[in-house]
Amino acid sequence: MPTTAPRILFLGLDGGTRVVFDPLFDRGWMPRLESFWRRSARGNLRSTTPMVTPVAWTSFLTGCTPVRHGIHDFCWYDARTRTVGFNHAERVAVPTLWHLLDRLDRPVVSLNLPMTYPAPRIQGIVVSGAESPDRSAAFRQCPDFGRELACLVPEYSPKNIWKRRPRTLEDLRGLARLTREIFLAQARAAERADAQVDWSVLMVHFHLLDGLQHRVWPEMGLDPDVRPRTEWSAEVEGCFRALDEAVGRLLELAARRNAAIVAVSDHGFGPCRALVSVNGLLERGGYQRRLRYGTRFRYRYHRLRHRYARWRLRNNPEAAAALPRPVAGEVGCDWRHTTAFAPFGQLAALVCVEPGRTQRSRLAAEVAAYLADCRDPETGSRLFADAFPVAERYGLDPAEHGLPDVLAPSADGYQAQAKWSPFDDRWFASDPDLPATHTQYGIVAIDAPGIGAGDRLAGELPDVAPTALALLGIDAPEYMEGRSLIPEDRVPSARPRRDGHAAAYPHHVR
Ligand SMILES: [Zn+2]
Repeated sequence: MPTTAPRILFLGLDGGTRVVFDPLFDRGWMPRLESFWRRSARGNLRSTTPMVTPVAWTSFLTGCTPVRHGIHDFCWYDARTRTVGFNHAERVAVPTLWHLLDRLDRPVVSLNLPMTYPAPRIQGIVVSGAESPDRSAAFRQCPDFGRELACLVPEYSPKNIWKRRPRTLEDLRGLARLTREIFLAQARAAERADAQVDWSVLMVHFHLLDGLQHRVWPEMGLDPDVRPRTEWSAEVEGCFRALDEAVGRLLELAARRNAAIVAVSDHGFGPCRALVSVNGLLERGGYQRRLRYGTRFRYRYHRLRHRYARWRLRNNPEAAAALPRPVAGEVGCDWRHTTAFAPFGQLAALVCVEPGRTQRSRLAAEVAAYLADCRDPETGSRLFADAFPVAERYGLDPAEHGLPDVLAPSADGYQAQAKWSPFDDRWFASDPDLPATHTQYGIVAIDAPGIGAGDRLAGELPDVAPTALALLGIDAPEYMEGRSLIPEDRVPSARPRRDGHAAAYPHHVR
């Protein structure tokens, strides 16, 4: 008879994938993660649409798809004011797993998980993710813990340090050293939090794994046609070994606390053939016109005005980050001759259509059909895995949900981008700074009482939260769309209890 787990330790492996882990296990770079993997039930986990950090980790944390949790990108669109704002934890439309556990008086330790800024006011310790405007904002929920880490684990940092590809070996050495230090500091921070909180769930999110893979992919020796440079490869190996050491420390912590272990990633990884400019595609399709000299002035004016407003808030990074950005300074086009534009979006085309020339829904359907057929000019492969009018597919008014009218997730191997210089004529270009990017399938592995080693799991990101609740012997609330990954006969016998979590949160803050 399976028993419930008293606690769960989550390993958040951002961008973790079999494509990388399998060969690294063979090389012996990650022996601790490998032995955990072998004794776990494990499998592939499908990412969200689009497969980007804030969307995917919100699905992880809520057990819901983006349609229900309301986060569809890093940004959201305010159609009334024609501005773009950053998504954050308080825009999530449903309670998270952390909120649910708090209501059951079960404290949580959450270190670095994306979309936890601003941190929820719950029992335990929450250090917000890399989206926090600065260090003090990241530690807002636990300032004492922030001060303790500053003294005892000064290397700890929630920031993303892999902003670009290292140009020289020295450059790489600097970034690799920081990466190794931060991985290990994350494990040490978890140990310190463990000494203070009698946690029910402890999560460490290894955010640098994503940036590392984006920038050093060619040095990882995965492509048989690319021979990595030995000294470069040694630095990369050091990073993965440090991650493995940090994972090992957390596995030991889990063993001491008799915790089940769940490793999860938000998407897979693979080579990036090209960046695709969404506004460039719209221009080619006749939906948008490029800036001429007379119209450049307006674009530059809006950008400068926004930059000045930010500069005035330079002593208040949180307020500066919350400033909405006018679309006229985000998209460089001649607005009198534009009927469709992408105000933001990464790894997906997110397109707003302007009513006027024709009806909104007809134009949205036309743009979706156009994007669905956009192809790689060299290979003829489709650039988007799917393309659809949001109102039709999701059954909602996009404007009410901060969403553009058309959504087209990138096909594996291509990265669609709204951000692109309006003075750059190319719409399709490989980017030396981004040799690899996200793919559809991440991983999940569970080592828990009653779960068989080697059992195959297959599911999607919203399935993880109900799985965790099942392991803890708690019924999943009605609003969660995911289903537990653990076969029924292995589910620990949960108490027959429906305490109406959904009813308790009819209108979560937006
Ligand atoms: Zn990424």
